[in-house]
Amino acid sequence: MHPDRQIRFLPLIGLLLFTAIAIGQGTKIIPPKNGYKPSDDVQLGREAAAEVSKQLPLLPENGDADNYVERVGATLAAAIPPEFQHSEFRYDFSVVNASDINAFALPGGPMFVNRGMIEAAHNEGEMAGVMAHELSHVALRHGTAQATKSQGLGVQLGAIGGAILGAVIGGNAGEAVAQGTQLGLGTYLLKFSREYETQADLLGAQIMARAGYDPMDLARMFETIEKQGGSGGPEWLSSHPNPGNREQRISQEAAKLQIVNGGGRGQSAEFARIQSSLKRMPPAKAMSEIEKPRNTNADYPDDSRIQTNVEQPSNHYRMFEARGLFRISVPDNWKQFGDNAAVTFAPLGAYGNQQGESVFTHGAIVGVGQVSTNDLQNASDQYISGLLQSNGYLRPEGRYQGKRLGGRDALRRRLSGTSKVTNRKEIVDVYTTMLNDRQLFYVIQVVPGNAQAQYARAFDEMVQSLTFLK
Ligand SMILES: [Zn+2]
Repeated sequence: MHPDRQIRFLPLIGLLLFTAIAIGQGTKIIPPKNGYKPSDDVQLGREAAAEVSKQLPLLPENGDADNYVERVGATLAAAIPPEFQHSEFRYDFSVVNASDINAFALPGGPMFVNRGMIEAAHNEGEMAGVMAHELSHVALRHGTAQATKSQGLGVQLGAIGGAILGAVIGGNAGEAVAQGTQLGLGTYLLKFSREYETQADLLGAQIMARAGYDPMDLARMFETIEKQGGSGGPEWLSSHPNPGNREQRISQEAAKLQIVNGGGRGQSAEFARIQSSLKRMPPAKAMSEIEKPRNTNADYPDDSRIQTNVEQPSNHYRMFEARGLFRISVPDNWKQFGDNAAVTFAPLGAYGNQQGESVFTHGAIVGVGQVSTNDLQNASDQYISGLLQSNGYLRPEGRYQGKRLGGRDALRRRLSGTSKVTNRKEIVDVYTTMLNDRQLFYVIQVVPGNAQAQYARAFDEMVQSLTFLK
């Protein structure tokens, strides 16, 4: 099965999108319904940004180009109308040393502008136009709104993060990305809807005007990107499709706006200086030429490999303690891997990276997931539906059974199916109990059907030994 990361589920929420005219202030924009908290946007964006920074070549932080883009970005972010400011969000800006005319922003604020975009723009106003458009998607929280709309019940936080990454990096391998693709989120997030595009154009124009740029530079940049064509231009436009009459709409909006300082900021001399220094650098590679790590999931060592024969669980146990949260005993011949959300215990040969996904065949995962309810049964349903989505071959076998886990009420549900890794029947027992504040604690035990008897004692020992420390 594919080990799961931290998971969050949301109730299905319909999407309502209105725009209306408010005289003098530009078009009033109503952000789409969103089942996530702004802090979720921040978390998703931060995780994705950490991956991006590892995978893409960035121009040096605090170098001339980086400082310059940071200053333009900060000016734009400060001009976001107060109703769309989120105190949790942190807007920061990096320059990717790639030739494609592209840029992207992640939920909660991190933005990446390609060197190719800066080189293609005719002036600071055009560059700021793209950035204001991207900032608008972030401020209106379109990434998580899209996820709310497309998935409803059963959305996985990790999968969304992965899908955003997949979208920006171009379908990289890795567990989270693979899950995202499997859930169909990748395609949703690759392309903003026309409604969202219209909103980002309108808010982008408003931000431009408030920051002292000519909103028409936003429209002109779309034209510049279209004209440049080549490898990168269409890429950005395919993520931000023209909702129809784009330029006309931006110009109608511009006519309604009071433009601070007449929009003179867009003609800065500094832009020309930065642009020519970028053009003097050795040519940047295209995104497609930038080498991508084979696997973005660092859970398992690179050399780990699934083997047909796996050592049986030792009769000796060792105590594992997690961050003052719980203690559990596990066979002393099981390795452990993990991150903040979950720990995997498995014998050598029972875990590995296959076709860019981390899989494991024998062992257990112990972790905590965020759910949208404090009701154990509902929370367990949510969690298990996520497991079933990311492990399509599994089916529930029978009903929940009442159990105890660390002195708390718990449920156990058995899932089974034919593993694609071993081509054998796999049995997955999922124990769940509530911590507090919609935190679901789980123990997942995985074993091939034919090894079930040899693992019974070890699995039992884990469940019996589990102690919560607070
Ligand atoms: Zn857009």
